[in-house]
Amino acid sequence: MCIFCKIVAKEIPGDIVFESIDVLAFNDLTPQAPTHVLIIPKWHHESAAELAAMAPTTLAELFTVADQIAKERELDGYRLAFNTGESAGQSVFHAHLHLLGGRPFAWPPG
Ligand code: AMP
Repeated sequence: MCIFCKIVAKEIPGDIVFESIDVLAFNDLTPQAPTHVLIIPKWHHESAAELAAMAPTTLAELFTVADQIAKERELDGYRLAFNTGESAGQSVFHAHLHLLGGRPFAWPPG
């Protein structure tokens, strides 16, 4: 079982900020911004593309949950990211949407 599946199963602790039938959101262990939340499908999918193909409604929910959390925190803007593949920085191969906010972000990202 992957580390995020273990958080879903409550086998290891996660700092959970939102939960629905299909989606879980928890604070990143190594936050890169004042708000850094990971929003994941509870069912294991390796990448965003696989999630889009297999469960598009759940993929859409990740975005609506991100916006809901941003509104609750009154963020004036935020960045969403899916890293896909090692060269793009993916280290956990369970699809997860990064919600980053609370500071300015440069473009293009490094
Ligand atoms: P990525 O590099 O895009 O695959 O993102 C994986 C993210 O998961 C990183 O930002 C890590 O800090 C985060 N992470 C890894 N393990 C945990 C954990 N147990 N709880 C919360 N976040 C984690």
